[in-house]
Amino acid sequence: MGTPGAPPPTGFVVWLEGLSGSGKTTISRALAPRLRSMGWKVEVLDGDEMRQMFSPELGFSRKDREMHARRVSFVARMLARNGVAVLVAMITPYETSRQAARSVVGTRFFEVWLSCPIEICRQRDPKGIYRRSEEGSVTKMTGVDDPFEEPLNPDLTVDTSSLTVDQSIDRIVRQLASSGYVAG
Ligand code: ADP
Repeated sequence: MGTPGAPPPTGFVVWLEGLSGSGKTTISRALAPRLRSMGWKVEVLDGDEMRQMFSPELGFSRKDREMHARRVSFVARMLARNGVAVLVAMITPYETSRQAARSVVGTRFFEVWLSCPIEICRQRDPKGIYRRSEEGSVTKMTGVDDPFEEPLNPDLTVDTSSLTVDQSIDRIVRQLASSGYVAG
């Protein structure tokens, strides 16, 4: 993107939130090459991966989850202001964290709620985490014994139980284009 000598274009942050199994990892991994093919430099910040590197001391209390989201939003901000399209894949169960991320990133923050009924997420269970929470080896599981607050202000809601991955991505790219973040 851009011409030699010109300042880099401002990037943006797509913040993908939703229950475990709603499709955040799948969609961010598939959206990344799509945006690259449009000329963007892309980074995926996966909440679980970022936890290992950035927040190994944090657990899953509200305070710790909010702190972790704050750290990730700060990295997202730094990348976006240097022209990167940043895809954050993080449960982000609390509205306060979403609002904080929006305010840390500033402008060019695009919040996508991957809404998917918990019964479907439980059937998918890609990481086996619902099973482990039923067995009792995982506690504070979002949607089970920890809340997922319904997003109040998403820029887009995508129901991944009724759309394919490709359809979900098309919808996100279309909305990014009509909001002026990417070329239409
Ligand atoms: P999360 O990162 O939110 O925990 P994952 O992406 O790891 O979720 O898992 C979602 C699972 O649901 C994957 O196995 C994926 O193939 C499946 N899936 C089915 N339909 C969709 C869809 N429309 N969008 C995303 N994932 C989907």
